[in-house]
Amino acid sequence: MDINQIKVVKRTVKYPRLELKTGRPLLILPQKGHFDPEKIIKKHESWLRKKLEYIEQIKRKYSNEKIYRRLKEELMTIIERWVRKYSQILGVKPEKITIRLMKTRWGSCSRKKRLSFNLLLKYLPSSLIKYVVFHEMAHLIVPNHRRNFWQLIKQEFNNPDHYEEALFGYWFLLLGKLGSLGKLESL
Ligand SMILES: [Zn+2]
Repeated sequence: MDINQIKVVKRTVKYPRLELKTGRPLLILPQKGHFDPEKIIKKHESWLRKKLEYIEQIKRKYSNEKIYRRLKEELMTIIERWVRKYSQILGVKPEKITIRLMKTRWGSCSRKKRLSFNLLLKYLPSSLIKYVVFHEMAHLIVPNHRRNFWQLIKQEFNNPDHYEEALFGYWFLLLGKLGSLGKLESL
């Protein structure tokens, strides 16, 4: 990927940031204030190149992985089953579970203990769906990604890096298949 392909957009953010998970690198700039996109890109160029190289490598590695076909209802059944199991193991319960299309992540956990899961999980192997459920359930106990969090994850998945990498790989595999996330229905 060419560093010159970075798209610059303005949004209501406080600080400039780089986003790499939407298929094309984005430099997001605050609407207010003066920021020189070229300067920002130059400053972070080596970091950016490393990240983009890593993405290319992961894309190649996962390019032939199987894409599963499930209905949203089937995904919900799978998620609910794992939520029940992990509620017993972890001793916590979510207030609400929602499935919706998310553009930058597989799942999220709100402060009100509401879990959201990406509809795109329906295309993933069940082992990865299971991991994402446990990951989000673990956030009901530890909201961040610091050491305690990974210790908790390791009680159930002794190699979380493997799952995180596979989720990253599937993310870009699906993006490639879809062209853009907007084309979800055509898959
Ligand atoms: Zn997390």
